[in-house]
Amino acid sequence: MWYQAVDSGRELWKVKNWDKYSWLTHGFTSRHWGNLALHVEDIADVITERERLSQYLGISLDSWVVGNQIHKANIQRVKPSDKGRGAVDHASAFCDTDGMITEYPGLFLVTFYADCVPLFFVEPKSRIIGIAHAGWRGTAAQIGPAMVNYFRLAYQQADLNHLEVAIGPSIGSCCYQISEQVAENFSQQSLSCSSDGIYLDLCLANKLQLIASGVNANNIFLANQCTYCNNSFFSFRREGKNAGRMAAFIYRS
Ligand SMILES: [Zn+2]
Repeated sequence: MWYQAVDSGRELWKVKNWDKYSWLTHGFTSRHWGNLALHVEDIADVITERERLSQYLGISLDSWVVGNQIHKANIQRVKPSDKGRGAVDHASAFCDTDGMITEYPGLFLVTFYADCVPLFFVEPKSRIIGIAHAGWRGTAAQIGPAMVNYFRLAYQQADLNHLEVAIGPSIGSCCYQISEQVAENFSQQSLSCSSDGIYLDLCLANKLQLIASGVNANNIFLANQCTYCNNSFFSFRREGKNAGRMAAFIYRS
């Protein structure tokens, strides 16, 4: 249900089911698009990479909207006046924000990843869109259900029966060994044990939470791509804290 679109050697992952929405732009970058987050010293290089992605998509860099991610479940409703926040600096980004949601066109909502789970939200009838960053802490804090509740409470016109959620490339249960303390935050269904320890299926944990919060299971699209196994992704576990960050983005016209 996800596929790898390749443009001049740069893989971009997209949801097949969403190609039919001509008003929607979305995707998840591979390492071939470079590091897209400002956690490094050389910010100029990051801006150059962001400009390249913007140019490819035909969406200007001043349409980007970014939050400073802190692995919690805080969500911002994005308005046209927020356009450009965090596009070229940290200071103007939303504070302490891992989820964004909007009903407005022209806002390029972006979050960044190296193994954590990207969640993309589309309610196609009213064209409300959202995106959320779910590492294990954000998942334990139920950021997925928090996004669904935001659709339910903030948007009377949103139809949850039609809400679609895509779960993008992220570290798979094949590679995500966790401690017993971390495991305590998750149900047995998303954990597996082997002789060398406990492994977490963070995508499944998110999927189960989304279903429990009212999302139709048929409307959840998994990428089933492990960012640790697949070298075309950056991986925090594989490369350490200086790993580049990939972008998950969503935009409506
Ligand atoms: Zn793996």
